[in-house]
Amino acid sequence: MKNLNLPISYLKGVTANRASLLLQELQIRTCADLLTLFPYRYIDKTRFYKISQLENNNSEVQIIGKITRIKTVKQQRGSRLVATFIDERGSIELVWFKGVRWIKEVLKVDVPYVVYGKLNSYNNSFSIPHPEMDLFSDYKKKLQTAMQPVYPSTEMLTNKGISNKIIRTIVQHLFLQMDSNIEESLSPSCIAEFGLMSKSEALLNVHFPKSQEKLAQAQYRLKFEELFFIQLQLLRKKLIRKSKIKGYVFDKVGTYFTTFYNNYLPFDLTNAQKRVLKEIRKDVGSHAHMNRLLQGDVGSGKTIVALLSILLALDNGFQAALIAPTEILATQHYNAITELLAKMEVNVALLTGSVKAKRRKEIHRDLEDGTLHLLIGTHALLEDKVVFKNLGIAIIDEQHRFGVAQRSKMWKKNALPPHVLVMTATPIPRTLAMSVYGDLDISVIDELPPGRKEVKTVHRFDSNRLGVFKFLKDEIAKGRQVYIVYPLIQESAAMDYKDLMDGYESIARDFPVPDYQISIVHGKMKPADKEYEMQRFVKGETQIMVATTVIEVGVNVPNASVMVIESAERFGLSQLHQLRGRVGRGADQSYCILLTDFALSSDAKTRLKTMVATSDGFKIAEVDLKLRGPGNLMGTKQSGVLNLKIADLVKDTSILVTARNAAIAVLQDDANLSKPKNSALLKSYTQIQKTSGLWANIS
Ligand code: ADP
Ligand code: MG
Repeated sequence: MKNLNLPISYLKGVTANRASLLLQELQIRTCADLLTLFPYRYIDKTRFYKISQLENNNSEVQIIGKITRIKTVKQQRGSRLVATFIDERGSIELVWFKGVRWIKEVLKVDVPYVVYGKLNSYNNSFSIPHPEMDLFSDYKKKLQTAMQPVYPSTEMLTNKGISNKIIRTIVQHLFLQMDSNIEESLSPSCIAEFGLMSKSEALLNVHFPKSQEKLAQAQYRLKFEELFFIQLQLLRKKLIRKSKIKGYVFDKVGTYFTTFYNNYLPFDLTNAQKRVLKEIRKDVGSHAHMNRLLQGDVGSGKTIVALLSILLALDNGFQAALIAPTEILATQHYNAITELLAKMEVNVALLTGSVKAKRRKEIHRDLEDGTLHLLIGTHALLEDKVVFKNLGIAIIDEQHRFGVAQRSKMWKKNALPPHVLVMTATPIPRTLAMSVYGDLDISVIDELPPGRKEVKTVHRFDSNRLGVFKFLKDEIAKGRQVYIVYPLIQESAAMDYKDLMDGYESIARDFPVPDYQISIVHGKMKPADKEYEMQRFVKGETQIMVATTVIEVGVNVPNASVMVIESAERFGLSQLHQLRGRVGRGADQSYCILLTDFALSSDAKTRLKTMVATSDGFKIAEVDLKLRGPGNLMGTKQSGVLNLKIADLVKDTSILVTARNAAIAVLQDDANLSKPKNSALLKSYTQIQKTSGLWANIS
């Protein structure tokens, strides 16, 4: 057999029934699919443990020793069999719950056995339930296969009798029936440069490792290959986009930009802001189409970068759009920007869901005839009726709206697509960004404006509540305002509302009128009431804002300097970080107090420690990635890049960086992979492109 694309029914041991089950349960159709059904762990029977060396984290172990005693223990239903098993220095229990009578008859006391099984630990003593037992004398006669693969499976497969052993046998047949080596997919120079195992040897060793060392080499090679081809695809996609999709050229720096920059810029730009602006200008000045992700922590000053990019578009005769995820945020942008542009002749409008029909019509008209320069709003901007005369740049605040703008009709009058700048305050760790957004250009504002004081963050237990309240009173006495935030999770919403209301009552008792005024805001309130309560806090009429996470994005009250987070253990890291970003906006020292119960999971402890230790959004995102895995981070769900077969984006970051650099080097030398030395590469690349979904989402 030479063709790996043949269905697996060509293999010995694969009946039609098994073939259809394997397809249904594990999506395995061809021999090639089977070849990349990678074992997720291995049973290592090359190693013997001493009982005294066993540890909690040993999953399966093999030991040699003797049974000293067998007893039957009555339990609620039937009985269990317990054998005491010893080696030179230790003792362990072997336990059976089924077939007790039969097993009791065959077990021999005081005779050497080789025992293999899954280790259980309870109160510092170990046991092995239903172990595999071989008399030592028999064991020596058997030919031992070294490390055995354990394949992914499903309940259905197990129920239908397709055990791991059967899958293993089928894979063995695959290797036996292949009459030639598996073709190499990487170039010889790549293999030599990175000291990689050949593909053929790697596949054999990942299924049937000769040793731990060979297994490690095999896994490295296959992970490298997987990540390399993803990077190759992303980087080529970017290259092609840059060469094929032209963008408008903003080559003029005109009056809008210079007038604003010289007269109305309220502060000096930070170096990071200047650098990012340069990156943007390079894109928009070059005939290329800009598709850029701008990452910058809360408060790093993304808005001004957006505004300067907008003015650049205006200078070149284009209109601009700024889209925010919520009405509050859109309104805030509108207020901030109209204030900054107060003395300039720029026509700016706000379009959200609550804009009345009459005003809406005016906006539509002014957009189409070009009177309106800049439209700020929510996703109301993406409705079909919103048509620009010549949209030059679309700026999107928060990345998860990404994609939406690309499908919009906003620029149906355009000859070319507008430049796109996506701004996000949820930093994505570099390695993840490389994989998920590898085809985008990425800019980072990694510096906060000067004079910003770090928010002092502490973790306190509920039992310290009185102390915390005393502190709040002192801060309020200095004229500051305070947020107290409660968790609200859909699954436990009723309980959470009760906690919020109980909390509110107890706060109202401790902070009585008329000395204190309290606002409360939560999702069950009518929008108008919410707005009223918010405004009271914004205007400083109330000193305390009790709220659920609705305040996570949006509200900007520089005078609020304390953020208290109740049941902080229930919040995710990025949420905690976003909440903390609500304070520290003014000149005063700000504080974040994380209140929790005593009982904390180890993940919760890590989250709290991280928050106390750092305010760097990128560091926090790295920890979050480690805790939750890449699939749960924002914006990654839709990405096909994460369906990895063998590599792990959290654990294999160094392989990822190596693979990306290797892909960059290849493309710099041979962008079309047309040189003879890259023929193997091109072949696999073409094959992968046909089967993977990566290209499906190109705009
Ligand atoms: P974000 O990146 O969270 O959108 P903003 O653009 O809202 O941040 O900026 C946060 C605050 O910092 C604003 O009040 C803004 O005026 C101020 N700011 C931005 N850049 C600078 C700077 N270079 N120097 C001083 N203050 C700045
Ligand atoms: Mg912002």
